[in-house]
Amino acid sequence: MSDPNEDQEEKNTDGMEGESGAETIHVSGIRSIRDLIDRVTGRNLDDLSLGDAGYAEQWPFPFFAVVGQQEMKLGLILTLINPNIGGVLLVGPRGTGKTTSVRSLMDLMPYVYESNCYYGCLEEDVETGGLESLCPACAEKYQKGEPLSSLRPAKLVELPLNAKMEDVLGSVDEKAAASNRLRVRRGILSHADKNILYIDEVNLLKDEVVDVILDASAQGSYTVRRGQFAATYRSRFTLVGTMNPEEGTLRPQILDRFGLRLMVEGLEDTEERLSAYKLARAYMTNPKRVVEMYADETMIARDEIAAARKLIPEVDLPEEIAKIGLDLIRELEIASLRAEITLFEAARAMAAADGRTVVEEDDLRQVATMALRLRRSKFIEDYFTDQEGEEVEIDKKLEKIMGGN
Ligand SMILES: [Zn+2]
Repeated sequence: MSDPNEDQEEKNTDGMEGESGAETIHVSGIRSIRDLIDRVTGRNLDDLSLGDAGYAEQWPFPFFAVVGQQEMKLGLILTLINPNIGGVLLVGPRGTGKTTSVRSLMDLMPYVYESNCYYGCLEEDVETGGLESLCPACAEKYQKGEPLSSLRPAKLVELPLNAKMEDVLGSVDEKAAASNRLRVRRGILSHADKNILYIDEVNLLKDEVVDVILDASAQGSYTVRRGQFAATYRSRFTLVGTMNPEEGTLRPQILDRFGLRLMVEGLEDTEERLSAYKLARAYMTNPKRVVEMYADETMIARDEIAAARKLIPEVDLPEEIAKIGLDLIRELEIASLRAEITLFEAARAMAAADGRTVVEEDDLRQVATMALRLRRSKFIEDYFTDQEGEEVEIDKKLEKIMGGN
């Protein structure tokens, strides 16, 4: 699989050329460009397979060229800073720039150690499973003291909508199986390890596929079994999903697994819409020029995200701030413990983004909505109310019978 980020360096050093009319645009962003381009070029997500380094992948639309959508941008950046937030779900209608924005994260990605090997072998595998857990080539390298991984920008791994179980988990490498060692052709989940796994329209994905992904995401690993063989692969990815509520709902247990919930509505301001259009046109004419227009902001943001990521382990959540958060969750009658994990981890990311090591009230305020919305369940509320009624009834009847004796 080719690495779309490989082109990054070239892109930043190439000279400017051509004319795009982009100079006349005085805006801080754009929306829905990708959708527009997709329509114009007749290309849609179904055509994109894993590792397809197509034209637009080489020149992702700049994150800061997305017009408006402050909440979405903030939420996505927080997720890059602190993977413990538990991923993010972008909720909104078609054509509001959700996919564009997610793909534009490519230029902001933090660096991670990634395996150099087809089978995904890592040095850390030796600590848990010994030399046996490496493929023969990597075992040899390891014994010679050669590195098995290199530092690279994290990738955006896209899950195709028509992904089959085999694509997601991987499949048996017949040659290896014949030599009595199970090696699995790494699936999407394994490729997503330490990266971002992007699922567009998660509500349209097959239930069985969603379940496997969520389990792997929760455990940070997954096991593939074929007969007597079993192989475990790491899958510590950040999940980013989108859904269009017009096209069906998400099962509550799936919704619960997403950390931040970001609402992405269409731009209402005419000026903003015009800016978005102009930038879209400029990007279509000369994507490189648009990328260069935002190169400085992109570089600064990437450095700040990296610095905030380093700071995260030191960020402290004072007890009085935690109490405010827990009071809020209790007031909202949210049951899932994932609510406070996301709320507090997002608040810690806010503090880190600000270069602080202590969470303040305002950090909590800024992330509360995106961490806690869509978490209340009318069904569960009613269910427990009914249960309480039943408990009272059981007690009463018991009293009556006992009293009658
Ligand atoms: Zn290997």
